[in-house]
Amino acid sequence: MNRREFIKLSSLLGAGAAVSPLLLTGCSAHPLPGSGQVSRTPTFCDMCFWKCAGFVYREDGEPWKIHGNDNDLHSEGRLCTRGTAGLGNYEDPDRLQKPLLRVTGADGRQTFREASWDEALDFITGRMKSIAENHGADRFAMLNHGYGAHHFSHLMRAWGSGSRAEPAFAQCRGPRDVGFKLTFGEGLGSPERTDMEHSRCIVLIGSHIGENLHNGQVQTLANAWRRNATVITVDPRFSVPAGKSKYWLPIKPGTDLALLLAWMHVLIDEGLYDRDYVQRHATGFEQLKEHVARYSPEWVYLETGIQPELIRTTAREMAASAPATLIHPGRHTVWYGDDTQRSRAIAILNALLGSWGRKGGLYIQEKVRLPKFPLPAYPKPKSDFRAAHGARYPFAYKGVSNAIIEASIGEDAHYKGLLVYGTNLPMTIPGIRPQLKAAMDSLELVVVVDTMPSEITGYADVVLPECTYLERYDNLRNSGERHPSLALRMPVFEPRHESKPGWWIARELGHRLGLQKYFPWKDYSEVLDWQLKQVGSSLQEMQKIGVKNFPRTRPRYFVDGQPVQFRTPSGRIELYSQQLADQGFDPMPEYTRPQQPPQGYYHLNYGRMPAHTFGKTTNNALLFQLAPENTLWVNPLVASAQGIENGEYVRLANPDGIISNRIRVRVTERIRPDSVFMAHGFGHRSRRLRLTHDVGADDSELMTNVKVDPIMGGTGMRGNFVTIVRETA
Ligand code: SF4
Repeated sequence: MNRREFIKLSSLLGAGAAVSPLLLTGCSAHPLPGSGQVSRTPTFCDMCFWKCAGFVYREDGEPWKIHGNDNDLHSEGRLCTRGTAGLGNYEDPDRLQKPLLRVTGADGRQTFREASWDEALDFITGRMKSIAENHGADRFAMLNHGYGAHHFSHLMRAWGSGSRAEPAFAQCRGPRDVGFKLTFGEGLGSPERTDMEHSRCIVLIGSHIGENLHNGQVQTLANAWRRNATVITVDPRFSVPAGKSKYWLPIKPGTDLALLLAWMHVLIDEGLYDRDYVQRHATGFEQLKEHVARYSPEWVYLETGIQPELIRTTAREMAASAPATLIHPGRHTVWYGDDTQRSRAIAILNALLGSWGRKGGLYIQEKVRLPKFPLPAYPKPKSDFRAAHGARYPFAYKGVSNAIIEASIGEDAHYKGLLVYGTNLPMTIPGIRPQLKAAMDSLELVVVVDTMPSEITGYADVVLPECTYLERYDNLRNSGERHPSLALRMPVFEPRHESKPGWWIARELGHRLGLQKYFPWKDYSEVLDWQLKQVGSSLQEMQKIGVKNFPRTRPRYFVDGQPVQFRTPSGRIELYSQQLADQGFDPMPEYTRPQQPPQGYYHLNYGRMPAHTFGKTTNNALLFQLAPENTLWVNPLVASAQGIENGEYVRLANPDGIISNRIRVRVTERIRPDSVFMAHGFGHRSRRLRLTHDVGADDSELMTNVKVDPIMGGTGMRGNFVTIVRETA
């Protein structure tokens, strides 16, 4: 096997069409939008993972606009900026258009050439069979992100592979869900079970809702403000929610856990915790009481910079509103490598306030009991993702993407083939670029399925162009929610160019692999119609209404006097975790002082902006107009000391000598002088992403100091430091 060269797609493919004037102006070709023949088709959004349902309107068959579905709990009839810009993805002239196959020219140079679907699919299945014969079907792994991945997950399981991982676990919310599972026996789900519509007090610690636009959640938070709920925001930045909060606690980066332990200390010390709830439902209270005794507000002040009286005042505010107090669990929770413990602390604090299972706290989710389409059982794989973990990460109940990449390096590597669906690994997994390249040199087959020519496509043997969510059926949306509901995604338009729906690609691969019995449908709508009929609906009905709501079959909150069984080994809330102790971890969260930046360096804080979902949307022309680049937040003291002007372009350098793209400075007092902040998702290197190529800086390439959480493999990204390099210096 030749080393797999990274192929720059720009030099190999002709320039695509110019960006549509419609997208750049946002105006319909009609003088009066809506004056033509209007039709509407239901969908649920794929611009982020919140899956808001809406309708796509066409006028005389041409795309017009997307609106929220009034009956939908995720959107409440309103889509966010990105959701309304979904047509920008459909019309993006930079979309992948045809299958591409890696070839080596006479001069030894590797390039892509366009291929027919038959040729591309035959190539893939030929290599998959060869890997299965020589090593086993389980040696083919998948890394994925996005709802459409379920078609390929089905293919992998039918083929006998049990190794799948999504960066959403090790690079995002895994520590949170493991921390809550260890405490309450269950994770938080998506959308999270936060009952903000009824909360009287909400604590946001490291969660910038509003900049981080999860539609339904933003709406319930806005309603909480309207109801004068108390909001306490803990953030080194004066973020958008901090600006609307009763209390802003500008904490020193990396010290959240100390503050959480101090709040527990105050609640217990002053007898403000929910004694009855804890007695009835929890175990390990005495150990916890002893454990947090040393985390007095005075001691914690020295770590966090938060005044002891403010720590006490905010703890009393929480207790005064309990159990309708929500310590928000956050979503992106991979920070300092002790992140499962940080999330455990948030879970324990919620338990002390009695908010799990209570109105205004964390409600009990319910989804529709939707039967699975009848298919044969999957074969049992010879190994699964745990083969990549070895003895590490005992509480990783899902695959850890870095581990799968590391287990793909070298001739003796466990994995021989990789399918990458909808995730741009070089910009998604920090500190992994050398390993990613080494894995790409070793693997016998790399397949990328995507809609856009993101950086990862440059490593593929075969690139398969999937059509966008507006051109395909996917599984019904059936999320645990306040009440059960189903939503339909269906094709609004024919797939553009030669792109194909994921279900079609998976079925074609399956048939070539001899797996026809797992793919008995001609069209995926047959599966959806069958399922819908089992619950008293039909595809025909859903094509009209888009969302169907069902009544709850059990209460949304605990019922007074009724016993509660938690899904932990003890059947109770585990304030002290014997499971952690048995594996050699701290049974209760311990605070460790974070590493501090070297002289002249700053904490690299990163986050999101409302107009974009990371790098997934930055090439969307409609959103590009709103937010073409990210900026670097710099405190005026820092700017003054270094002579940096507002609006000036600078670069960032990390202690390992990595230097970023140019980024524009925003001088603002809304950030602490020891930190800088930037939004993630910019600084694309792929020239085929013509709008966003080389625009802004990429935070993930600066993250070479990754702290891995030993409990579940999360990649802590906040322990990275940067210095500012002036262009004129
Ligand atoms: S929050 Fe916005 S981008 Fe995400 S699914 Fe909803 S409308 Fe789409």
